Amino acid sequence: MNVLVLNCGSSSLKYQLIDMNTRSVLAKGICEKIGIEGSSLTHKPTGKEQLVVNQPMPDHKAAVKLVMDALLDKKYGVVKSMNEIQAVGHRVLHGGKFYSGSILINDDVKRVIRECFDLGPLHNPANLIGIEACESLMGSTPQVAVFDTAFHQTMPEKAYLYALPYEYYEKYAIRKYGFHGTSHWYVSGRAIEFGKLDKKKSKVIVAHLGNGASISAVVGGKCVDTSMGLTPLEGLVMGTRSGDIDPAVVQYIANKEKRSVDDVLNILNKKSGVLGISGVSSDFRDLEAAAKSGNKLAQTAFDVFVYRVAKYIGSYVAAMNGVDAIAFTAGLGENNGAARKAICDYLGYLGIKLSAKKNQIRGEEVVISTPASKVKVLVIPTNEELAIAMETVKIVKKLKK
Ligand code: ADP
Repeated sequence: MNVLVLNCGSSSLKYQLIDMNTRSVLAKGICEKIGIEGSSLTHKPTGKEQLVVNQPMPDHKAAVKLVMDALLDKKYGVVKSMNEIQAVGHRVLHGGKFYSGSILINDDVKRVIRECFDLGPLHNPANLIGIEACESLMGSTPQVAVFDTAFHQTMPEKAYLYALPYEYYEKYAIRKYGFHGTSHWYVSGRAIEFGKLDKKKSKVIVAHLGNGASISAVVGGKCVDTSMGLTPLEGLVMGTRSGDIDPAVVQYIANKEKRSVDDVLNILNKKSGVLGISGVSSDFRDLEAAAKSGNKLAQTAFDVFVYRVAKYIGSYVAAMNGVDAIAFTAGLGENNGAARKAICDYLGYLGIKLSAKKNQIRGEEVVISTPASKVKVLVIPTNEELAIAMETVKIVKKLKK
């Protein structure tokens, strides 16, 4: 079965066409700057030359059309007709409290995605346009919504409720939802399998450390807590996001700088994090290079980031009353051994011992702790597209039964 995975961001659309019989990627690509000047599509068919199309894309519908054209193109295409794409899996940002799993898209599902526009104002509208564009271009091909929030829906009330007047939860559904759910699901599942952990009882912490970063506590494969909140701004220090701060800071900056709340939130989302502290970059590779050449603030940004991750791990060990494994994933978690070591250096009290040699391995699933370590530490490369395609196949197969 060939599954097209679509991930519509606020001004981008990433896609992969995956042959799920062999789990191989037939083509992947990205549309950038949708709805703004300079839109482009970069299409990478496996084993063929890449195609770049610079063409205005006023909205995600136009982007989906261009992607379809590229997939069917005589020279750069990988399928001969639309019938060779048997299903579409959409990454949908916010499913609110309504979905704890993936679901076949119908009018009701679209209505809920629309109802969640307030919760995911940049992504949910783009996700819905992507879904409707596929419906109009692909007719009855089944489409599945895989929500970024779904995996975290098993969190207990004590973990998801904010200590605000309860009426705001009742009236506006203000609570912790969590994001990166597909990654946390996939990586915790792989950690249990690869780390040979107990499927029902194991206590796993997943540290998804990319440009966006989040951490989750997973007991027996079910999420019991996670660091992102109502929006992805809560929790860890990230590339450009502040993560946890005293909420009064918002008012303080607004007053001092004569800015609106929206402006300040934009600063917290886009100009803070390691970029904000260092003034250098949101990319840890740049940060490392700057720190090595003596930039003190670059080092400080790295230290603040690492300290926050270590604190979260400590708090999740307390939340679960123990931990069997910690799994690192995403760009930084998979590739930056120095960050993993710096984080684990805080965790000596848990009896964690890292193997310096294993900690250098890249690009594969690996246990990087020594056999003597009381907690297994793993690196599990995440694969959100494959996870979305797996979910899509599962739902479509049920449909056929
Ligand atoms: P996102 O998907 O949230 O945009 P990624 O998961 O791609 O982010 O992670 C981006 C971060 O991972 C960057 O800060 C980058 O420095 C780091 N990273 C990615 N690849 C490498 C690499 N090969 N070596 C070191 N760091 C890397």
